[in-house]
Amino acid sequence: MEFSLTEMVQQQVEKAFAHTDIPDYVQKILRCPKLVLEVNFPVKMDNGQIECFKGFRCQYDNALGPTKGGVRYHPGVTKEEVIALAAWMTWKCALVGLPYGGAKGGVICDPLKLSETELERLTRRFTTGIMTILGPHIDIPAPDVFTTSKTMAWMMDTFSMFKGYTEPAIVTGKPEVLGGSLGRKQATGRGVAITTRELYKKLGKSLKGAPVAVQGFGNVGSHAAFFLEEMGARIVAVSDSSCAFIDHDGLPLDELWECSERHACLSTLGKFKRLPRDEALYQDVDILIPAALENQIREDNADRIEAKVISEGANGPTTPEADTVLEKKGVYVIPDILANAGGVIVSHLEWAQALSGLYWEEEEINQRLEKRLVAAFDKVWERAQEKNISLRTAAYIVALEKIAEVYDYRGIFP
Ligand code: NAD
Repeated sequence: MEFSLTEMVQQQVEKAFAHTDIPDYVQKILRCPKLVLEVNFPVKMDNGQIECFKGFRCQYDNALGPTKGGVRYHPGVTKEEVIALAAWMTWKCALVGLPYGGAKGGVICDPLKLSETELERLTRRFTTGIMTILGPHIDIPAPDVFTTSKTMAWMMDTFSMFKGYTEPAIVTGKPEVLGGSLGRKQATGRGVAITTRELYKKLGKSLKGAPVAVQGFGNVGSHAAFFLEEMGARIVAVSDSSCAFIDHDGLPLDELWECSERHACLSTLGKFKRLPRDEALYQDVDILIPAALENQIREDNADRIEAKVISEGANGPTTPEADTVLEKKGVYVIPDILANAGGVIVSHLEWAQALSGLYWEEEEINQRLEKRLVAAFDKVWERAQEKNISLRTAAYIVALEKIAEVYDYRGIFP
């Protein structure tokens, strides 16, 4: 049976609710998004034609603070997907103790077919369309799939033009010269590597020589690969949307990175044997990092996964049915809301720096990231051990209890 992404989040949440005594009214609130905005907007293309695009912004819950979440440009964006991603952001921020609710945005488009000037005009139009619900204390966007620091610069500039003053705290993931935080670009991948290392420590295992496969060699996947290699692991398989490369002696990450940066895709690298892209998922490795899109590990392919540990760089890569199959196989899954929380942790530091006008050294940023993430990992691990449940359900319990406690203090009035 196929679940929609919102049904998938709901299933994960219901499973966690069953282990808690969170009041009924909080459960009801958390089952629905607070706000979903759909915008349709025109963009002038380079050939002079006007095309219309559709975009969404969802603010799922803001009990803990302003909502925070990325903006995605992809042909497959749907309202459902944006709502599910905003829900995951809500649980993620609560889990790692950030003063944020969760949000997400997306525009249905094929960014690989748009020129840079078209992307800029699209970004400025989309930002204008959702402007009324943005603000440094309301909702703060960040990059996600196929959006970059440049996209964030255009969003910040558009918001600032309308307000009449420069507002660097309106987005995170900006270029450093505009107040972007040192370490933000690497933060999500760094976090994936840190949580994997922490799990290995708990299991009494060493990362030295451990074979790793990475699905999606974009921002998250490539940095996770570099940090895991630095920690002693061996990256043997890598894929992007075009193809997969596999070498059990270890792949040259610098070469792959350079190719991906230059051509936005790996398939131009003629030197290696190209395989169908999904082969990266099924290699005989210790660790698998799904870092592409959601719904990659499903009931129909979960049995083919050979990895013993999955660290979810992407949001929602594993369906609930696949979780059941993996649990039976004894695979440890570090859930997305924990494994990829490094990005929003450093986004929070970027926001705090922008609000205060004081900027920190990269070492300080990395230390703060590490401390927050390891503390969250320990909490999740303890809860999983105590209740004999998966790391995913344990992570949801920690997050949901936090939000419930905040609702309890704030109250529902009148
Ligand atoms: P990105 O655009 O930089 O990279 C995505 C990569 O996945 C690209 O290399 C693309 O070619 C590849 N890809 C797409 N479909 C694929 C497929 N079917 N098989 C293999 N590869 C495929 O995006 P990103 O920022 O790295 O985000 C990746 C995932 O991580 C998304 O789920 C995103 O929501 C999540 N995430 C990102 C951040 C962040 O800070 N960027 C933070 C948390 C979570």
